[in-house]
Amino acid sequence: MTSLAQCPICQSHIEKSADRIPRSEITDVWKDNFNIAVEKYLPEEVVTHYICPNCRLGFFVPASPGDDLMYAQLQKFDWYYEDNKWEFVTASSHMSPSDSVLDVGCGVGRFLDLLKEQGFNKLKWCGNKPKSCR
Ligand SMILES: [Zn+2]
Repeated sequence: MTSLAQCPICQSHIEKSADRIPRSEITDVWKDNFNIAVEKYLPEEVVTHYICPNCRLGFFVPASPGDDLMYAQLQKFDWYYEDNKWEFVTASSHMSPSDSVLDVGCGVGRFLDLLKEQGFNKLKWCGNKPKSCR
């Protein structure tokens, strides 16, 4: 069977078809729910959502990262910087306090706060730009 996509985390080849989402559906949801225009982040008419059969990561093709403006708009919502997100718990369960951690795009540092509480002390962080790493 032909590989349709490759998992960006574990590199597994995805051979099963996935959900195809029209760009207009995505832009409408973002406009209606957040009043944010995301057309410029979606270069193709359709975005495909895959789920990796190996690590269960859900990801979109093409990958379309947001920019500083998009994140500045999202940060206005109270829910954006929640103290405890499911991904924090999942990620930290795969880590040890002796690990060195670099959190790129850490926002206000909620994940790093959680790691500090768990005894991690080799932490570095960046805002949205690698030059801001500390
Ligand atoms: Zn994977």
